[in-house]
Amino acid sequence: MSARRSLIAGNWKMYKTSAEAADFARRFVPLVSGLADRDIMIAPPFTALETVAGILKGTNVALGAQNLFWEAEGAFTAEISPKMLAAAGCRYVIIGHSERRQFFGETNDTVNRRVRAALPVGLIPVMCVGETEQEREAGQTFSVLDKQVRKGLKNLVANELGTLVIAYEPVWAIGTGKTATKEQAQTAHQFIRSLVANLFPAGVAAAMRILYGGSVKPENISELMAMDDIDGALVGGASLNPESFAKIVCY
Ligand code: PEP
Repeated sequence: MSARRSLIAGNWKMYKTSAEAADFARRFVPLVSGLADRDIMIAPPFTALETVAGILKGTNVALGAQNLFWEAEGAFTAEISPKMLAAAGCRYVIIGHSERRQFFGETNDTVNRRVRAALPVGLIPVMCVGETEQEREAGQTFSVLDKQVRKGLKNLVANELGTLVIAYEPVWAIGTGKTATKEQAQTAHQFIRSLVANLFPAGVAAAMRILYGGSVKPENISELMAMDDIDGALVGGASLNPESFAKIVCY
């Protein structure tokens, strides 16, 4: 268990219409309303953001988006700017999810551009990193994480990093039912924290929240949260049902 304030975040991916998202929010909020000692976030699809924002207003559940574009505005058909997300009520934005990297050409460089665009409007980036199964088997986990973290945080200075969250999501554990063991997750988190400590002045790494993501469920959240460097979870599949996500949030 870390001393940092934990964050449990739900990534809904391309699931739920606006009406379905509203129904989730109405059912979920009362299940977690008593929890004052942790942060809670849900990230619906763009089309549901404003509706869900209305329901979450004044509650202890924050709203997040699943991506953004780095330009403030312009002729960028289908893109969504940081300012638009902030105006829609978002507090967080997920950046560099492995599905974006795998299917939509996201690179460490574009991740960095998105992170740098999120911070000035007050959005908290949840920057995702993680190795594939092939990379793990080839013994490249640490070198992949090193590159993703170093490049993702390039050109940022310590005082900009106050709120930034990193999510360690081994690609082989996402949506597969294969959770990293608590020891595998702790080792990766510790590695990321020491890397951040080498890159930025004292204090930044110790304060930074590092979430674990990859088949988190009500059954495994407690053992993960018991590890020193695990400060929360980014949850996909199990965040789609209010009762199951509430069980995770209430670990
Ligand atoms: C995710 O999409 O970030 C994720 C961790 O998914 P799941 O929990 O379904 O593995």
